[in-house]
Amino acid sequence: MENLPNEIANDIIARVGMGCCTDLFSAQLSCKYFKKIAEDDYVYHNLSMHKCPITEWEILSDHQRAFIRRCLQSNNAELIYRQGMKSCFSDVDMNWGCVLLEAAERLGYLKAKYARAIVLLISSEYEGMEVGIKLLEEMTQSRTICMQVPACRERFIEVISSIWINNRDFQLPRCCLKEVTHKKTFDLYSMDQFEVTGCYECNADIEVRKIVGYIPLH
Ligand SMILES: [Zn+2]
Repeated sequence: MENLPNEIANDIIARVGMGCCTDLFSAQLSCKYFKKIAEDDYVYHNLSMHKCPITEWEILSDHQRAFIRRCLQSNNAELIYRQGMKSCFSDVDMNWGCVLLEAAERLGYLKAKYARAIVLLISSEYEGMEVGIKLLEEMTQSRTICMQVPACRERFIEVISSIWINNRDFQLPRCCLKEVTHKKTFDLYSMDQFEVTGCYECNADIEVRKIVGYIPLH
């Protein structure tokens, strides 16, 4: 292993980390060479946090805090997304939460774009709702992206089910006001799909209603 060029060794370690951060820790413990290579930003940038708990029930150790800080500094999109969700729902800091979600989105993390759309749609601000509709509209432009929306929704529900929801300002929006011509029967729609109708406002109304049962609204 020590004879490998550094960039190949880095790539191998990053791929181990993409599988799961605990696999990376095992690799780091297995030899000094892995430990040194695994300190690269590229590894932290690509590290999968999937098996790491979303909420820390205990006070973090210095080592754990340093690890999270390192992932954030290395632009780990998944971790930035989690922090954005926590800011919106637990810390009641929508502005900062949306900044973080947008940062993760710019790193190509589609789940963050979906989350920002939903958060803005239920934000009870008209301008927010407009942006939320627009973001979901952008997600209808590619079939590949449409197919990823159910996974984005699933992750969103998983995260909000794991964190404290202290934000009580969320509201169920009514995006489409053409009630008569655009008759929606929400309960007929499937969680396995992203419904794309001819009306972007209707699409937003339908999508929000798939997740509202998980969020306290007024
Ligand atoms: Zn409509």
